Amino acid sequence: MSKPLIVITGASSGIGAATARLLSAHGHPLLLLARRLDRLTALGLPETLCRQADVTDPAAVAEAVREAEALHGPVDAIVNNAGVMLLGKLADQPAAEWERMFEVNVTGLLGAIRAVLPGMVERGRGTIVNLGSVAGRKTFPDHTAYVGTKFAVHAMSENLREELAPHGVRVVTIAPGAVDTELLSHTSSESIKAGYREFTKASGMLAPESVAEAILYAYQQPQGVNIREIVLAATGQQP
Ligand code: NDP
Repeated sequence: MSKPLIVITGASSGIGAATARLLSAHGHPLLLLARRLDRLTALGLPETLCRQADVTDPAAVAEAVREAEALHGPVDAIVNNAGVMLLGKLADQPAAEWERMFEVNVTGLLGAIRAVLPGMVERGRGTIVNLGSVAGRKTFPDHTAYVGTKFAVHAMSENLREELAPHGVRVVTIAPGAVDTELLSHTSSESIKAGYREFTKASGMLAPESVAEAILYAYQQPQGVNIREIVLAATGQQP
């Protein structure tokens, strides 16, 4: 019997792309979403529908989910991975950067969950995996607005887990430390980027494939087992 459909947001690079490769290798049909469609299709994965969607556009996400379900049956899991990290000091960071982070990391995540949630509740099963962060548990210099978005992900995930427990739907928070991806590249301050690179040079970074393995581990548990949170970081990372 074929395995169920999984949706991954932000699958065009980093953790999302690594997760797509791993879940596909385990036989899952996938719906991959991101703004860079060429990067999704370049993954070349079988039984995979790639759609260009900005997670801040819930109608586009919902339409893609409908299309994928018509092809591959109901969504059994969603990996809410799309995110941006625009580091800055509150005194001088453009407000548009905070707004963008909250739109993508918080509101976008809620909208993507809504696209799959009614079906999961109706079926009495499903898994929602949300990418939090070590920066969703503790603070870091120049991370004020970003930690706000990631603390929000952790808090909302836990509240949603409680809400969905009676319906048999699991909510898993994955909280990585620094991972070697494109995430830092969107920060506009060159000096903050240089400081972050110094930090990761000293402490090391996880490979995105290690985070993908954590996601797979949580998902592969029996539906009656909810791994609530996995925190993982490079061994050399102190904070
Ligand atoms: P990347 O920058 O490599 O990947 C981010 C992904 O999100 C890309 O696929 C990007 O695709 C997508 N994305 C960004 N904005 C949008 C949007 N508006 N709509 C749809 N997709 C979007 O970074 P990571 O792989 O590191 O990040 C993945 C997640 O992991 C994020 O939530 C991040 O906060 C979290 N995380 C990362 C850590 C790290 O150190 N790297 C540590 C802890 C957590 P596209 O640009 O094509 O739209």
